[in-house]
Amino acid sequence: PAPATAGASAWVTVDAAAIRANVAALVQRAAPAQVMAVVKADAYGHGLLVAARAALAGGAAWLGVAQLQEALALRAAGIDAPVLTWIYPPQGDVGAAVDAGVDVTVGSAWSLAAVVDAARERGRPARVQAKVDTGLGRGGVLTDWTEFTRALAAAVAEGAVELTGTWSHFAWADAPQHPTVRAQEQRFADAVAELRRAGVDPRLRHLANSAATLTNPDAHLDLVRPGLAVYGLSPVPDLGAPADFGLREAMRVTARLTLVKRARAGQGVSYGHEYTTERDTVLGLVPMGYADGIPRHAGNRGPLQVGGRRERVAGRVCMDQVMVDLGPDTDAAAGDEVVVLGVGADGEPTAQDWAEAAGTINYEIVTRMGPRLPRVVV
Ligand code: PLP
Repeated sequence: PAPATAGASAWVTVDAAAIRANVAALVQRAAPAQVMAVVKADAYGHGLLVAARAALAGGAAWLGVAQLQEALALRAAGIDAPVLTWIYPPQGDVGAAVDAGVDVTVGSAWSLAAVVDAARERGRPARVQAKVDTGLGRGGVLTDWTEFTRALAAAVAEGAVELTGTWSHFAWADAPQHPTVRAQEQRFADAVAELRRAGVDPRLRHLANSAATLTNPDAHLDLVRPGLAVYGLSPVPDLGAPADFGLREAMRVTARLTLVKRARAGQGVSYGHEYTTERDTVLGLVPMGYADGIPRHAGNRGPLQVGGRRERVAGRVCMDQVMVDLGPDTDAAAGDEVVVLGVGADGEPTAQDWAEAAGTINYEIVTRMGPRLPRVVV
């Protein structure tokens, strides 16, 4: 491993070139729409700054984050690209967003009023994007768009607000034929038309996450907001693997066996003995557990690759370790590398394999790789 992993028993390798190439592929697919690379949640576990810089190098025009703190971390690192944040800070200092030139999403009358106050105090317009809830039932204005439009028109006319975009989010983007997709697109078009009738230019209109970017060109509008695809994962595993969309996985997770030992047939393994050796065998200890992002639900199922062979977690996942039954004839030794998460080539386990083993989605696998694992950028 690279020197940064010296002494580490498990680590995450982040392929910045893959992120750059994935964004370049998304830019090409979305054109003429622009790309906002979503880098929230520490860039889905890949590292905020590394991913943000790689995404910009790949041609992303915008960065998207959930929390204001994430946007401010980008600014503190000297990244001055346009940044949109979408969870309004209920007691946070929205003035900090105005000062930092971060675009704040407003999806309620009260958040708009608070942003207008902050802008007036500073004597400088706040950069704002308007969010309409077209059916997800999460953020955004759901029932009061007409009233909201009026308040927004007044704030724009006063010069307290510079509207930079208008947007919404799908409930079923991963099922492009689902009737709610068309219904949400129509509801969005209606909301935009209402803004225009009130004399407000909606500016950048956007709806599409990764799934819609990859499968629904009608939803590209002026800008797309992919997250998962930036990291080379498929948001629609039933419709295609990453390579089918021209994407390549950016995360690898590697660990080193910390102990290899003989066990007799009938040996219970790990808490609750949910695995019992069927024969005399060799057990390996892998120093990653649920505190590091190995899903506890993947006990007896989670895939690992040891010495080029696909194995499974034996027994329950512990906080810091999992066990693997290497079979009686293994030549594995303490210190050998275990591929915990790879790119699927040569039988390496993928995030999708882990997701299926744990009954979850690939998003959760990568975002939960824990802070204890050093990140090595290649
Ligand atoms: N836009 C918004 C508002 C989001 O919350 C997210 C993430 O969930 C994304 C875009 C990116 O979604 P995905 O990772 O599915 O591309």
